[in-house]
Formats: sequence, structure tokens, C-alpha cells
Amino acid sequence: MENPWECIIIGGGAAGLSAALVLGRARRRTLVVDAGEPSNGVAEGIGGLLGHDRQPPESLYRTGREELAAYPSVEMRSGRVVAASGPAGDGESFHLELDDGSRERAPRLLLATGMQYRMPDLPGIAERWGRSVFHCPFCHGWEVRDRPIAVLDGGPTGVQRALLLRLWSDDVTLLTNGDGADLGADERTRLEREGVIVDEREVVELRGPGDELEAVVFADGGERRCEGLLVPVTLHQRSTLASDLGALTEAGPIAADALVIDSMFRTSVPGLFAAGDIGAQMPSVAGAVASGSAAARTIVHDLLVAA
Ligand SMILES: Cc1cc2nc3c(=O)[nH]c(=O)nc-3n(C[C@H](O)[C@H](O)[C@H](O)COP(=O)(O)OP(=O)(O)OC[C@H]3O[C@@H](n4cnc5c(N)ncnc54)[C@H](O)[C@@H]3O)c2cc1C
Repeated sequence: MENPWECIIIGGGAAGLSAALVLGRARRRTLVVDAGEPSNGVAEGIGGLLGHDRQPPESLYRTGREELAAYPSVEMRSGRVVAASGPAGDGESFHLELDDGSRERAPRLLLATGMQYRMPDLPGIAERWGRSVFHCPFCHGWEVRDRPIAVLDGGPTGVQRALLLRLWSDDVTLLTNGDGADLGADERTRLEREGVIVDEREVVELRGPGDELEAVVFADGGERRCEGLLVPVTLHQRSTLASDLGALTEAGPIAADALVIDSMFRTSVPGLFAAGDIGAQMPSVAGAVASGSAAARTIVHDLLVAA
């Protein structure tokens, strides 16, 4: 029996939708399975995406899905892939199981599942995440410009990130969170010269109405006014799908277990491709769109070579 799909894309965020567009335009039979939880879904707007700057994330994904409707070889399906195996059995297909119990198979698979962003464990972060608390100043710095802002980072990246925040505000504090002992004299001098305040007290909570931030609260009961907070994150795989398929991962400065991919978006498993945050690239919607598009072109060529 002919394989119904030439490619299955797991994940219909920026990378997956972008890949589906290229595959659809190349008339490849493509299934996109998407659980509908893009990483920036909570954010007010997408900062820095040409053509969609500051637009709500949902409007980008809705437009993407609407554009795909023009291509009959692409099917979008809501759901979650819960198990993956192969290529095995018939010798050439990946086999997938979805959360509704259905099964699908295809000779090419694109992982575009995004990553889980793990943030510091601090009361008040979760409800402000992607708004007044953020991990990327390029995405959210503009929105808090000229206001009192801070970076929570007692580690080796804190100084650089504090200096970076100065691009957006004259009122920047480096919160070392009780961990600033490693700050060298040269670093302290540089921060002082650039007008960055260093506050070494332990932060215990964030305060402000709703998703807004007004102040960070310290263990000694004191507070510092702060309307935007940059926090460190580490990216982690959202599921075991990649490792179940045998794909190699590696730890890097951004992700604890990014998929190893080559310049053509191939993973270590033949036929298995990956795009978006799941590779070791700097997370951004523009990067995800670009990598999804490029990965799909490789897949189209790959299908042709194998035919
Ligand atoms: C809070 C926040 C705000 C951000 N703001 C910006 C910004 O302003 N500008 C910017 O450029 N970047 C921003 N980013 C980064 C940007 O959102 C990501 O780099 C980009 O969305 C990655 O796209 P992706 O397609 O790889 O993953 P995602 O957008 O995360 O999409 C992955 C999709 O795969 C689905 N999925 C996962 N597992 C499965 C499964 N097993 N089965 C089926 N579907 C699955 C998910 O539900 C999701 O819909 C932000 C990130 C965060 C966390």
C-alpha cells in the first residue's frame, strides 16, 4: 500500500508551518500534527519579525494555517504525537502514534516541536512570562525601553546581559541574587562606568498587578523598583520523541539537549530532519521560519533522490 504521506511534520509552530508551506508548494503529501502550544503563545506580540513586528503570535500562526489551506497536498491535524519509531518494519518509514490512538507513517519526518524554556524558580515569574518578565531583550527590550529594568543573573553571563540592557534603558540593575561574589574588580568598574547598579541581595518574589511588574522583593524585606526583568533560561526537549528515534543531542550555551543537525537540517538519523528551536540555533521566530523553510527544501530534494 502506498504511503499516504511523503513527509510528516511534528509541530505546527513557526518552523513547522514554514516547512509545510514549502512542501505544499512542491506538491509533497504532507501531514502536520500540532499540539497548539507554541513557545511564545503567552507573549503579547512578536518582537522583531519582519512583516509581523509586535503582532500577537496567534495572528502569525492563524495566517500561516490559512495560507496552507491553498495547498491540497497538506493536511493540518490538531493533536499530539505520543510515540515514534523507525525507520523500521517496512524498512523505510517512520511510524507515529497520536494521542487519539491513530497511527501514521512516512519516509521523511521533520521534528519542529520547539523546546521547553525552563526559567528560574521564583514566585511571580510564571504569570508575567513573555510580558514584563522575558528571556530575550531583542524580543521584549523595546517594550520596556526607558523604564527601570533589571537582569536576574548571578552567573558569568550577568555582566554582559546587564550591559546589553543598557541599550534600552538608563536605569538598569544587575541582580546577582546573593551570588555576586564572583564579580571581579574590572567588571564592577565597567558596570559602574556604564551606570549599571549592582544589587547583590537575594530575590524572593516579584510584585505588581496582573502580568505587570512593579518591583522585585528581597529576602531582607526591601524592594527595588523594576518594570521589566530579564531572566536566564535553559531550553530542554519537550518530549522523548527525538531520543526514542535515536537522534543525537548535545549540550550548548542555549539548550541542555539540542538536536545535532547539519547545515542541511539532517539529524544523525537518516530521513529524520529538524528545524526551529529544537536545533542549537538562537531562538527566534525569524530563525524558526528560515530553518523550517530550508529544511523543507532539503526534504524535497531528499525524496527525489530516493525515488
Ligand atoms: C515567552 C516567549 C516569548 C518569545 N518572544 C519572541 C519574540 O518576541 N520574537 C522572537 O523572534 N522570538 C520570540 N521567542 C522565541 C520564539 O517563540 C521561538 O524561537 C519560536 O517560536 C520557535 O519556533 P518553533 O516552531 O521551533 O517552536 P514552537 O513555536 O514552540 O512550536 C512548536 C509546536 O510544536 C508543537 N508540539 C510539540 N510537541 C509536539 C508533539 N509531540 N506532537 C505534536 N505537536 C507538538 C507545540 O505544541 C507547538 O505548537 C519567544 C519565546 C518565548 C518562550
